[in-house]
Amino acid sequence: MNRCILCQSIIVSPLLFADLFFMVKNEEYLCSICRLSFRKIDKNCCPSCQKSGSSELCSDCMLWQERGHPICHTALYQYEKNMADYFVRYKLWGDYQLRFAFSKEVKENLRKWRGYTVVPIPVSDHRYQERGFNQVEGFLEAAGITYYPLLKKAEVEHQIGKGRRERLEMEQVFELKQSLKVSKGVLLVDDVYTTGATLAQAKKIIYENVSQNVFTFSIAR
Ligand SMILES: [Zn+2]
Ligand SMILES: [Zn+2]
Repeated sequence: MNRCILCQSIIVSPLLFADLFFMVKNEEYLCSICRLSFRKIDKNCCPSCQKSGSSELCSDCMLWQERGHPICHTALYQYEKNMADYFVRYKLWGDYQLRFAFSKEVKENLRKWRGYTVVPIPVSDHRYQERGFNQVEGFLEAAGITYYPLLKKAEVEHQIGKGRRERLEMEQVFELKQSLKVSKGVLLVDDVYTTGATLAQAKKIIYENVSQNVFTFSIAR
């Protein structure tokens, strides 16, 4: 009997005969009410970064394109109230069990990048010590995805209080831990895509040093 990791109610899932026969592990961690409370990425979204609301290239993506860093991003869910609450519980309160919430979707979606080297966006040493885990590595580990922690983050001022344009113009905050040869390309994974600044910086350093075939992915956008 599984309980929803968000609301603790019992998860009722129709067990298929095939599941019993093959002893398939029930990978459902959310009840249907909690699952449906998160909004998937709207079909009407920016073709580059999946920002909801318009199918035109958004102004941030236009800016990145002008600077020679076109965005090619995939996200699972919209970053709205319920998702923000979820991240407060997972990241700020440090409820590590919540890393399983989207494991099924992460696993399914990342099949598209089979053969790619998966690189999580790192957290700073300070944050890591505070929280005890890297939330992105948590998602990947929960989904059974092999990843390569190639990037290291320097401690910089928190982004809160800075303007959008200022955030888009921030200096490189990542460094490579070591050199790496990849066969197909790199998939950079983050938890939330906000302005695209974090992933753009990570993408740049990968593009210049590891592979020119770089895609980005996040749980929320
Ligand atoms: Zn629930
Ligand atoms: Zn966009």
